[in-house]
Amino acid sequence: MEIARFQRSLNNKAAKCFLCPHGCRIASGKRGICRVRENLDGTVYSLNYGRLISANIDPIEKKPIFHLAPGSLAYSIATVGCNFRCHHCQNYEISQYPARHHNEIPGLPHTPAQVVMTAQAGGCASISYTYVEPTIFYEFAYDTAKLAHQAGLKNVWVSNGYIGPEATREIAPYIDAANIDLKAFTDRFYREVCGARLQPVRNTILLLHELGVWLEVTTLIIPGWNDSSAELKEIADFLVAISPNIPWHVSRFWPTYQMLNPPPTPPETLHRAREIGLNAGLHQVYVGNLRDPGGEDTICPQCGIILIKRHGFQAMKNRLQRGACPQCSMKIAGIWD
Ligand code: SF4
Repeated sequence: MEIARFQRSLNNKAAKCFLCPHGCRIASGKRGICRVRENLDGTVYSLNYGRLISANIDPIEKKPIFHLAPGSLAYSIATVGCNFRCHHCQNYEISQYPARHHNEIPGLPHTPAQVVMTAQAGGCASISYTYVEPTIFYEFAYDTAKLAHQAGLKNVWVSNGYIGPEATREIAPYIDAANIDLKAFTDRFYREVCGARLQPVRNTILLLHELGVWLEVTTLIIPGWNDSSAELKEIADFLVAISPNIPWHVSRFWPTYQMLNPPPTPPETLHRAREIGLNAGLHQVYVGNLRDPGGEDTICPQCGIILIKRHGFQAMKNRLQRGACPQCSMKIAGIWD
């Protein structure tokens, strides 16, 4: 247990947490929406500090991050809890654990130093804060990311983007790359499916880019919810206006948890999304969760040759030379060393 950052005292021993845009007002003895921050006698504590429920070595492509050290390994960690309530959460067993198990917070205690040492011993180039929303284990992620940088490791933030600007600014110097889930482009989707709002996610994407964090964006395309050409174009236009270099991952939905009615995303929908993204001006649009040869390859936007060949989360071949196309010399944006 650790004193939570980003809190302010209110009357009657209540406190406001402003780590994320929910801005919970928490009465003494109660928890915030994420169920892992509790007000004890007027002070908010992070209850899940270092209590890892998940720790695995994954290919960095699985995050997905395609433009940072392709083919490298990322030590991927999570605690229980989340500030979203997505009906289609693939990791609901851990993200919603406290809400579904009488506020219990399981997990093996770890220190930041142990995480960094395990990452190094496993031959990882980075540590990834992932599986649930890492904002809800911010204090532990922050301490670990700082130590990881001192040890020469990179940090990868895989997030729903629902984090306050103060917290983003403080952790950004230690985050090398972020993949932000832009789940849809309507507030209705965020309110009805996730229990959140769209605008703060847009704000985080803009802020991370402004702060110089390498940014990739993922949209899981759900039939009937966010698959109209108009909405996909709006997302693509939003990203292009920030930078055409932002890789956009459009991935396949599969019925899960509380969203069992929509069918799996038809491959044609994903191909349509890819075309929409490329036509809007994005340089790289990747198709995920689909055994689709070519959909995960990095292609030179100028001369069209395959630069990085991928298959099933593996970078099979990388032809980039000092971050540039070997045929036409176009520089490809990313962190390639
Ligand atoms: S981090 Fe948790 S307690 Fe804090 S504002 Fe977000 S949901 Fe509420």
